[in-house]
Amino acid sequence: MSDTQKPVLKGQRALVTGASSGIGAAIAKALAAAGAKVVVNYAGGADRAHAMVEKIRAAGGEAMAIRADVSREDEVEAMFAEMIEAWGSVDILVNNAGLQKDAPLVEMSLADWQRVIDINLTGQFLCSRAAVREFLRRGVVPELSHVAGKIICISSVHDVIPWAGHVNYATSKGGVSMMMKTMAQELAPQRIRVNAISPGAIKTPINTAAWMTPEAEAELLKLIPARRVGEPDDIARATVWLASDDSDYVTGATLYVDGGMTLYPGFDQGG
Ligand code: NAD
Repeated sequence: MSDTQKPVLKGQRALVTGASSGIGAAIAKALAAAGAKVVVNYAGGADRAHAMVEKIRAAGGEAMAIRADVSREDEVEAMFAEMIEAWGSVDILVNNAGLQKDAPLVEMSLADWQRVIDINLTGQFLCSRAAVREFLRRGVVPELSHVAGKIICISSVHDVIPWAGHVNYATSKGGVSMMMKTMAQELAPQRIRVNAISPGAIKTPINTAAWMTPEAEAELLKLIPARRVGEPDDIARATVWLASDDSDYVTGATLYVDGGMTLYPGFDQGG
C-alpha cells in the first residue's frame, strides 16, 4: 500500500472541481484511496464524470458526481447544498477546474480574457466561499481532523513565470496565488488551512500539444531540470498530504510540483 492509499482522510468529505479528467481525476481517485468520500464535479460530459465515480467505487471508495459550472454562483451554491444534504458537510475542497484560451495580447478577445478569469479565478473564489461558510458553521470535529477545513488551490508555475501568449491564464493563476494567501491569513485563526499546488508541465488534455510528439516533448524537457514531464499522480500525492493532518502546520504555502521548472533552467550553464 503506498502512502496515498493510507486511510489518512477516513470519514472526511471532499469536493474536487473539474474532476472528470487530468489532474482532477487523479486527485479524486487518490483522495478516495486515502479514505475520503469524493464529489466529482464536472461542467459538461456527464458520462466521463459518472465513469470516474464508477472507477472510484470499483476500487472500494465512495463518490458521487455533481454538475456545476464553477463560474456560476447559483450552480456552485446548489452543488454545495446537494453535497451537504447527502453527506452532512464538507471537509476538503480542491479548486482544480481550469482552462486555457490562448492568444497574443493584441488578438485576445474580451470574451476569452473574461472566461478564463471567471473559471480559473472567480470559480475558486465562489467554491472557497461556499466551503468556508460550511467549515465555520460546523467547526472542528476532532475525530476527523485537527482543523475545521482544508482548501487546496490548483494554481500553476505561471503564478510566478510570465507566459507570453497566455496573458489571461497567467493573470488568473497570479490571482489565485494572492487569493490563496489572503484566505489563509484571514482564516487561520478559525482553524481553516488554505494552500496551493503549482504544477509544472503535467501530461493531461489541457496541454497535449506540448508533449504529444517526441519533438515537442524534447523541447519541453529543456525547461524541466528533472528531465521528465510530470504525471497527474505527482499532483495527487501532494494534494493528499496537504489535505491531511500530516501538513497541519502548513498554511498559505504554495508547493511547486514542477521538476524544477521554476529554477530558471536557462541558467544551468554559466549566466
Ligand atoms: P483538464 O483540461 O484535463 O482539466 C480541467 C478540468 O476542468 C476539465 O475536467 C474541465 O472540464 C474542467 N472545467 C473547465 N471549466 C469548468 C467549469 N466552468 N466548471 C467546472 N469544471 C470546469 O486539464 P488539467 O491539466 O487536468 O488541469 C487541471 C488544473 O491544473 C487546471 O486548473 C490547470 O490550470 C492546472 N494546471 C495544469 C497543468 C498541466 O501541465 N496539465 C500545469 C499547471 C496547472
